[in-house]
Amino acid sequence: MVVFSEDHVQETRRRGRIEVVCGSMFSGKTEELIRRLKRAKFAKQRVEIFKPAMDVRYSEENVVSHDSNSIASTPIDSSASILLFTSEIDVVGIDEAQFFDEGLVNVCNQLANNGIRVIIAGLDMDYKGVPFGPIPALCAIADEVTKVHAICVKCGQLAYVSHRIVKNDKRVLLGEKDEYEPLCRECYNKALNNDE
Ligand SMILES: [Zn+2]
Repeated sequence: MVVFSEDHVQETRRRGRIEVVCGSMFSGKTEELIRRLKRAKFAKQRVEIFKPAMDVRYSEENVVSHDSNSIASTPIDSSASILLFTSEIDVVGIDEAQFFDEGLVNVCNQLANNGIRVIIAGLDMDYKGVPFGPIPALCAIADEVTKVHAICVKCGQLAYVSHRIVKNDKRVLLGEKDEYEPLCRECYNKALNNDE
């Protein structure tokens, strides 16, 4: 049996695979993506990072996590564009993958089949608890899935979903700390009842 735990990852060996890091907001997804990419860079791997062009929260050029631990990236409009930038690359990082089109699944498979390590970070669910964009399919085809959790701000248990505090029905509302709160399933259902 092949175990894809970190102890078994050879940073210097070129081997195609797909890793997904998913979870709610405030769960540390982007921090984990950046951590893995920095380790690959230390190992002299050629790393390229992509994010959806629409995610321009803080910076056009950087993948930026909430604690400002950032890493340079390329904003792109469609998943197919990733293939244009990855001919000489060992490791591809993709942040905010939930905002990409469904074509991302095929793109990631192609990259991995070409020997590239693909690390994807994204929201598993939207604020209503509905699986988000290509993330469910990416989890299915991934070699390794890491689900990270925030902490429920009401009770301290592991959070399950990002509850939207502001009144707005748009699915895509870019994450700001004061518009969402991480909640466990029980506290989320209580909050929904209070919202009605
Ligand atoms: Zn709770």
